[in-house]
Amino acid sequence: MNNLTDIQRRGLMLVLSSPSGAGKTTISKALLERDGNLTLSVSATTRPPRPGEVEGRDYFFVDKNAFDAMVAAGEMLEHAQVFENYYGTPKKPVEEALSKGRDVLFDVDWQGTQQLRENARDDLVSIFVLPPSKEELERRLFARAQDSEDVVKKRMAKANEEMSHHSEYDYIIINVDIEESVSQVQSVLTAERLKLERLVGLRNFITDMCGER
Ligand code: 5GP
Repeated sequence: MNNLTDIQRRGLMLVLSSPSGAGKTTISKALLERDGNLTLSVSATTRPPRPGEVEGRDYFFVDKNAFDAMVAAGEMLEHAQVFENYYGTPKKPVEEALSKGRDVLFDVDWQGTQQLRENARDDLVSIFVLPPSKEELERRLFARAQDSEDVVKKRMAKANEEMSHHSEYDYIIINVDIEESVSQVQSVLTAERLKLERLVGLRNFITDMCGER
């Protein structure tokens, strides 16, 4: 006997983008803790680790040669240069998770989102996280204090460029309050998981209930 929770569903790709300092990482962490069906796509980067960052959990930290080799071997789903560093999404873990019906969370910039959209439009759900105000964005960037002042200034300049791409996303969340933002992302996920085209096992469920038609 089929029941609703057994309906086979295609995994979706949830992208969260924002300028640095808008709170996206905090939202992602809370989401992953609360949602057992969500897996984080861990990116590879040439950027050095920040204090507290763990290899394989936050990023795969690689040098430029190793990064270029992964790109050349076709192992990246998307890749881009952000600031002076390179970032990319290893393909294999994403494909494995999706094939098991798991949903995958991506923390990538607008360039990565564009590439993912080109490759997987139907599976992609994209959310842009905006800070509540310019002042708050500045405050959060400086409060982070893990990067040098020079890096912070560059990130401020980049924030405007990143935000100019907000209209390419499916949903916009203004991150005034983390709890509220997490709950808004969860609402998007709940709705997107119920989309007809993602419920590949629905036909069997209906046949079970109504018989062959
Ligand atoms: P951070 O250095 O602060 O961790 O990340 C800087 C920016 O790079 C963020 O906007 C983040 O979303 C983006 N980023 C992280 N990983 C990837 C990736 O795999 N691909 C792309 N395109 N951007 C990424």
